[in-house]
Amino acid sequence: MVAYCQHCGNALHVSARFCSSCGAAVPWPQPIPGRPLIRPRLGRQIGGVCLALAQANGWDVAAVRILTVVGFFVSSGLVGVAYLAAWIGIPEETAPYPGAYPPGV
Ligand SMILES: [Zn+2]
Repeated sequence: MVAYCQHCGNALHVSARFCSSCGAAVPWPQPIPGRPLIRPRLGRQIGGVCLALAQANGWDVAAVRILTVVGFFVSSGLVGVAYLAAWIGIPEETAPYPGAYPPGV
């Protein structure tokens, strides 16, 4: 999976924060519709479940997170159980490459 610099069009690694060609900052996380359902290592708040669902479906991650929190209270915790199940069931993204920032995540 590749992302593209919005400044010069250079192909970048999806986790790149800056363009290797022109040095422009890359907005992140990038909306990647059709991405496989995996929990990203970067950009997650708790378990990365909302971010995984948002990226896999091309949704706004903030909307998914808000709906999850609201749904948690409305469903008296049922969404929390579903979140834990998704946390266990959705595979985690493999480590991108040595020296990735932030280290040890
Ligand atoms: Zn660039």
